[in-house]
Amino acid sequence: MSVEPHTLVVGGGVSGLRAALDIDSRGFKVTLVEREPELGGNLAKLSTLFQDNEKASDVIERMVMAARVSKNLTIMTDSEVVDVEGYIGNFDVTVKNNATDKTEKLRVGAIIVATGFQSWVPEGIPPYGMSPDVITLAQLEEMKRDNKVLCPSSGKLPKKVMFVGCVGSRQPGVQGHEHCSRYCCTAMVKAAADMTEIGDDILILYDDIRTFGKGHEEVHRSAHEKFVIFSRFDRTKPAKTTVADGALSVKWRDILSGDDLEFHPDLLVLATAMMPPEGVEKVSHLFSLTRSADGFFNEEHIKLAPLTTHTAGVMIAGAAQSAKDSTDSTTQASGAAAKATSLMAQGEVEIESTVAYVLEELCSSCHTCATACPYGAISMDTSKKPEIAVVTEAECHGCGTCAAGCPSSAIIMRHSTDEQITAMVEAFLMPPPVTGGGDS
Ligand code: SF4
Ligand code: SF4
Ligand code: SF4
Repeated sequence: MSVEPHTLVVGGGVSGLRAALDIDSRGFKVTLVEREPELGGNLAKLSTLFQDNEKASDVIERMVMAARVSKNLTIMTDSEVVDVEGYIGNFDVTVKNNATDKTEKLRVGAIIVATGFQSWVPEGIPPYGMSPDVITLAQLEEMKRDNKVLCPSSGKLPKKVMFVGCVGSRQPGVQGHEHCSRYCCTAMVKAAADMTEIGDDILILYDDIRTFGKGHEEVHRSAHEKFVIFSRFDRTKPAKTTVADGALSVKWRDILSGDDLEFHPDLLVLATAMMPPEGVEKVSHLFSLTRSADGFFNEEHIKLAPLTTHTAGVMIAGAAQSAKDSTDSTTQASGAAAKATSLMAQGEVEIESTVAYVLEELCSSCHTCATACPYGAISMDTSKKPEIAVVTEAECHGCGTCAAGCPSSAIIMRHSTDEQITAMVEAFLMPPPVTGGGDS
């Protein structure tokens, strides 16, 4: 089956931009769709990046400039994918411009979903909301980016700043909050080290410090060298925050010393979880992607196929797959781009030989198979009366779920019919043939 040499990238953050630029540089057509009016995603909201303190906006600007002058890349901002039909090599995608309400149809051979994440805002969950001086790490980053790090209540520079890690992360049993968000330890120690420039007492209240990855431990060490205070809290006895006359007080037990401690921060910064973005359900439905307990998209195989999904021809990149930092996101985006371009370079794709097909005369239009197929490979042909089930062979993975569930035995697996399987079992159970020659 031929492959349309055109890739759709959904999401214009750092992962989407990286993937689109890589595909463009290999000479293949690529369209980048971003629902916001501007490209850059979450990275554009940060102040500076470790280790060289380069401005995040400069990094994004470089990528956006490269994207705007590229030959093969079309950028569609303020736009969303509203419909997807077809299969690997030949997807028909409808994109709607939210500003004009106009739609455009694209034929693409591969799709990279790079829809990113949102920082969790713990609305209604104390201590968030107890005082305007309780903010999230993402909100602090925006203040730092705009050179406006001030206490929201007083407009004064914060002299005592407290950071709290793992807020909304690593809570087994709380749906959507099981995971370690993986970026926040390093982001928190970097922000704390930065805050020593304006503050006198900077304290980090942590459960664990996981500054893994190239260069991350150096950031952790630099926070210690700048006299940031670290205290480990007891997860089973959360810190208690109170507000009296507008002043914050946080009490907790330091798990290493066993001491009960108290701090009066001018600014309390919560390093909150990385969560799937708004609208993730819609994207999941459009591309037939399944999601893990924390809401991010499932890969085809966690170790062996982390870039591809159960929908052939649809790849995932960056925080769309799981919480991760920008380094890991761009690495994954380049991998997904390589997968897409190798598909384009092949020009053709082979489909499964063991696919399902429907015996029309036996189909009783019950829809069981269309509902059960995990790959969305079965639809109902309503042009027939009564309607009958139809398998799109290019989307069928040959799993057999539909054949097992069909109450009318109307679905056959090609090359795995009942007769073929019975013949194999009979051959297996037959006594072994007598071999060997006569006397010699
Ligand atoms: S990266 Fe650190 S702060 Fe973030 S969830 Fe994991 S352990 Fe907690
Ligand atoms: S499950 Fe069988 S009978 Fe029901 S719609 Fe599918 S093919 Fe037809
Ligand atoms: S064999 Fe599996 S993938 Fe193929 S149509 Fe049936 S349920 Fe879907």
